[in-house]
Amino acid sequence: MSAMIECEGVSKAFGGVIANNEITLEVPEGRITGLIGPNGSGKTTLFNSIVGYHPIDAGSIKFEGREISDLRVQQIARLGLLRTFQQTRIYSKMNCVDNMLISVPHRTQTYRAMFSKYPPEVTERAEDLLEFVGLYEKRFLISGNLSFGQQKLLEFAMALMNEPKLLLLDEPTAGINPTLINGLIDRLRRATSELGVTLFVIEHNMPVIMGLADNIYCLANGRLLAHGPPEKIQNDQRVINAYLGAHYYLDSD
Ligand code: ADP
Ligand code: MG
Repeated sequence: MSAMIECEGVSKAFGGVIANNEITLEVPEGRITGLIGPNGSGKTTLFNSIVGYHPIDAGSIKFEGREISDLRVQQIARLGLLRTFQQTRIYSKMNCVDNMLISVPHRTQTYRAMFSKYPPEVTERAEDLLEFVGLYEKRFLISGNLSFGQQKLLEFAMALMNEPKLLLLDEPTAGINPTLINGLIDRLRRATSELGVTLFVIEHNMPVIMGLADNIYCLANGRLLAHGPPEKIQNDQRVINAYLGAHYYLDSD
């Protein structure tokens, strides 16, 4: 089992706020790794650092053994490392298939060319992935009319269009109703087991991440507090203390 991402001593400050303080962690290939921690503990900042959204102050970030901390977002994306956002980023006036098609990097700049030049196999892949996330029947519907949870599924499918090796998901279940959450979790698992996509997932819903991840890292105040398999993290007193007083929960209720 080889490490896909290796962070070593990664630090990032915003003015006086040390958002990430010497974070060292690994994301193994072919697995689902979780990242938890109270609000403001530095989770999104770490994702931003990994995908090249901003330069880091210190440390090293390797993807498949290659240093990437000096690369920009587009260069890192081309290596097969993508992220999704807490806020969905779909084009709400377009239908699902068109959203899928424009999520593939295109060489031409004109709006018309964006839609006219797709080979049939790209459209086929778009439809296959919409089927995979359970949106095939809705493929020609305007995406703005989908429920929020369905829009998140569409966004996940859009990311898969780019055939990422590693996908970073920032709170994929946030705002999704419980019925759809199970469907989404099932798709995340199958993305790893069937499509071979390694996942690194920030998640606030404890039952979800405990059931989903093989290994979990917990941040608090910008530092790595604990890591291990879900059973260990769930019972780690430091993790429990970090969440005490916050409005999160460790048991399902
Ligand atoms: P989390 O995702 O765990 O809630 P963040 O990584 O978003 O935490 O934030 C960690 C800390 O860094 C917080 O104190 C936040 O206010 C600060 N921070 C994050 N991004 C910025 C930014 N662009 N400018 C200033 N401060 C930021
Ligand atoms: Mg965040």
